[in-house]
Amino acid sequence: MALTGLEIFKHLPKTNCKECGFPTCLAFAMKVAAGQEGLDSCPKMTDEARLALSAASAPPQRLVKLVGPQGEFAVGQETVMFRHDETFHNPTGVAILVSDALSNAEIQARCQAIKALRFHRVGTDISVDLAAVQNTSANGAKFAAAAKAVSEQTSLPLVLISPDGTALKQAAEALGSGIKPLLVPTDGALDSAVELAKEKKLPLCLTNVDLEALSSLTEKLSANVPDLMICPGNLPSPKVIEYLSVARRAALKKKYRPLGFPALVYATGQDPAKAAIQASAYVAKYAGIVVLDTVEPWAVVAVLTTRQNIYTDPRKPVQVEPKLYDSGQPGDKDPLLITTNFSLSFYSVESELTAARLSARILAVDTEGTSVLTAWAADKFNPETITKALNNSQVQNLLKHHKVVIPGHVAVISASLADECGWEVLVGPKEASGIPSYIKNDWKP
Ligand code: SF4
Repeated sequence: MALTGLEIFKHLPKTNCKECGFPTCLAFAMKVAAGQEGLDSCPKMTDEARLALSAASAPPQRLVKLVGPQGEFAVGQETVMFRHDETFHNPTGVAILVSDALSNAEIQARCQAIKALRFHRVGTDISVDLAAVQNTSANGAKFAAAAKAVSEQTSLPLVLISPDGTALKQAAEALGSGIKPLLVPTDGALDSAVELAKEKKLPLCLTNVDLEALSSLTEKLSANVPDLMICPGNLPSPKVIEYLSVARRAALKKKYRPLGFPALVYATGQDPAKAAIQASAYVAKYAGIVVLDTVEPWAVVAVLTTRQNIYTDPRKPVQVEPKLYDSGQPGDKDPLLITTNFSLSFYSVESELTAARLSARILAVDTEGTSVLTAWAADKFNPETITKALNNSQVQNLLKHHKVVIPGHVAVISASLADECGWEVLVGPKEASGIPSYIKNDWKP
């Protein structure tokens, strides 16, 4: 959280000695607040002041990193309560549970299912980020073997959940050096897990349903184990959301450091549809990691889609490059569809064509990433901008017809567009879902 010049000034020696190159301490403080000078430029600053300023300027929520065989996963360091206030920064990690009580063949099948949970939506690949290995076998060696197998077979960073500190240590050591799983001790394993996290510099998740008790614990431990996460355990969904909201508000609004840690929650032990709904609510408010026990693609894709939407930056419209696109293998008699360069509009059209195995050209007009109706209302999707895009694309050289299809929502511009561009303007369906039947039944080159 950025400090103001006056907040920084309070910690300076106030001698105005000019050794920093500025005429007064206040002038120096203002430069530091603006990010144009570092604290090191003041040789008179005491260690206490330096420590206080560093701590005060630290983010209100800790960034926690897990490391797997092929990369790391970072969560936390959020700065706002509501996405539209700025943006959410580090997307919620979606973890799939794997019990160590499964046989080797079942673990292998589970890992294959986890790896298959990859989807392509609005031009982006989305997939699960983590595997959560749970020690339900009450056998440390089995837990370690399962953790090693899941790590090797999925290449994902791991969450290790166990009621046994020794088993956690066996599993963490089985993963090899450089790999940093998140330790989630349950029941009586906390003390040994703290020692393990301290010794191997691993992130640690503290489970406590009582936020006050949890605050005391994080205050006590955070000096030695800085990478902490918090977990409400098994609470009803509304209580989990209340817990996460209170913790987030305390950290961000009250700058209450003991709750400035990302949270891990469970959406497990129920039918996959309910789990997907519950997990999606947790993604919105305010889970750092959500653990699922389903590998049903239709359930997991719902959670990943929610996450993708929540974590897009509202300050930057999601857009594709404004240009002419081929969908399928269009010939010179196939349709030319006009839309905007808002990703969701473009990919809605493109995915309907692909699903129906139809070939067409799509002209994405530059509307600065806004949707058809928004762009039309803002006068960015009008006869002039569409004509300019048509001319720039040189698409007339690829076609034996002279027809364009515009979205039904902007039928009102069809006549003026025809006058402006000289093409025959056809009014297509209002929704992208109507495009396949429109092409099959109404398109005549
Ligand atoms: S060097 Fe430090 S004490 Fe001296 S004027 Fe600059 S900020 Fe003030």
